[in-house]
Amino acid sequence: MSTSAQIGVSGLAVMGRNLARNFARNGYTVALHNRTASRTHDLIKEFGHEGDFVPTESAEDFVAALERPRRLMIMVKAGAPTDAVIQEFARLLEPGDMIIDGGNAHFADTRRRERELRERGIHFVGTGVSGGEEGALHGPSIMPGGSTESYASLGPMLEKISAKAKDGAPCVTHVGPDGAGHFVKMVHNGIEYADMQLIGEAYQLLRDVAGRTPAQIAEIFRTWNTGRLDSYLIEITAEVLSHVDAATGAPFVDVVLDQAEQKGTGRWTVQIALDLGVPVSGIAEAVFARSLSGHAALREASRGLAGPRPAPMGEAEAAAFADRVEQALYASKIVSYTQGFHEIAAGSEEYGWHIDLGKVASIWRGGCIIRAAFLDRIRAAYDARADLPSLLSDKTFAQEIADAQDDWREVLVAATRQGVPAPGFAAALAYYDALRAERLPAALTQGQRDFFGAHTYRRTDRAGSYHTLWGGDR
Ligand code: NAP
Repeated sequence: MSTSAQIGVSGLAVMGRNLARNFARNGYTVALHNRTASRTHDLIKEFGHEGDFVPTESAEDFVAALERPRRLMIMVKAGAPTDAVIQEFARLLEPGDMIIDGGNAHFADTRRRERELRERGIHFVGTGVSGGEEGALHGPSIMPGGSTESYASLGPMLEKISAKAKDGAPCVTHVGPDGAGHFVKMVHNGIEYADMQLIGEAYQLLRDVAGRTPAQIAEIFRTWNTGRLDSYLIEITAEVLSHVDAATGAPFVDVVLDQAEQKGTGRWTVQIALDLGVPVSGIAEAVFARSLSGHAALREASRGLAGPRPAPMGEAEAAAFADRVEQALYASKIVSYTQGFHEIAAGSEEYGWHIDLGKVASIWRGGCIIRAAFLDRIRAAYDARADLPSLLSDKTFAQEIADAQDDWREVLVAATRQGVPAPGFAAALAYYDALRAERLPAALTQGQRDFFGAHTYRRTDRAGSYHTLWGGDR
């Protein structure tokens, strides 16, 4: 048995298989392992010629095939399977060895696993990997947590296999200790949910209010993709919208059941934001929009409810409306990222991670699902001022929203008047208006709380906590 593999990958479904090939294509010797050995054999049969692989059939052989200190990456189902696989390997490892979990683990699980393994002298690196199957093969965006020491050993390998941004920078950085990498990957996915929801709303408005066909909307998205909205998600939206169903000849989007599914990272982003007290209303609306779409019986029973009859626009008006939708989409996108970065900053503060927000924007510029030209500008904003309280405090973004806001409001007026739901656009605008408000009704909320629960309130004109002796027999 060779003991020269620089890295091992266990879990050879779509992601693990492609990551293993990516390591091998970059000149590394890769030990392979999978619970069901046929996956290992299939990889060797199909892609064995691509590089130096060491196939193994048992955990013992897999561990023995790795050079010391060992680097062992697992790409298996998140949750209990990940714990089972860690336990299986940990008993065979020695102090100084490293387990890298590239699955979509919850960051709290990663914190627990890191602590348990650290006590046994084993490094545990919870790593976010984004870019799907293609990214894993050609270069993903990689978000590793874990110790600085583990990054010193692993980082150069990850830099080699990662995506490269347009300026050539590798899309990987040591995000921070223990669960920081998986936390940032979670928020990445939350932002992805929000981006997709906003794009969906733009599509629906162009269809129902501007009366455009899917093929026409695909062209509009193609044009947008040449401007400030230039991004992978806008690009693939144009592809999906121009696709025609082979069986029926109908637009593909019209034959797909309109019930969105989800795997959980968007929901985690919102749950953790609630725990941290961070308003991520745009991401929350995106998660709720997916769940609402899935309530088929409720939607069926609600079809007869009263509402306005959409009245599609004429040609000239529709073209002008499309421009307004671009403004609304861009402004809402700025708000989604503002909320997502706020959550990362809050997580970093809570867990003492010292996450560099500019670096996070930088490693999302290539390889991942939310890659976008726009991220260069977010990086620049944080590079200019690392302690920026919010992306909206950046002068450039604030000016862009100022320029977009009239159109943004008009789009929401049209959506409301025509009865087209746009919860993402609306939540983003409400967040923006709430932040810039001189006074919020929170003062009234505090009065109510003091009235019914003697919860006290603070005053604008003097320090301390106050309680009013409200009248009546309370
Ligand atoms: P997956 O369908 O999530 O998992 C399949 C792999 O897990 C197989 O290798 C399977 O082994 C193994 N496995 C499941 N239960 C196991 C157990 N109890 N013990 C040992 N092995 C077990 O595969 P995937 O889509 O390639 O994703 C891998 C990980 O990457 C997941 O955590 C996923 O969330 C994450 N991820 C996926 C994507 C994506 O686009 N798919 C993107 C980023 C991250 P057998 O072959 O023996 O069944």
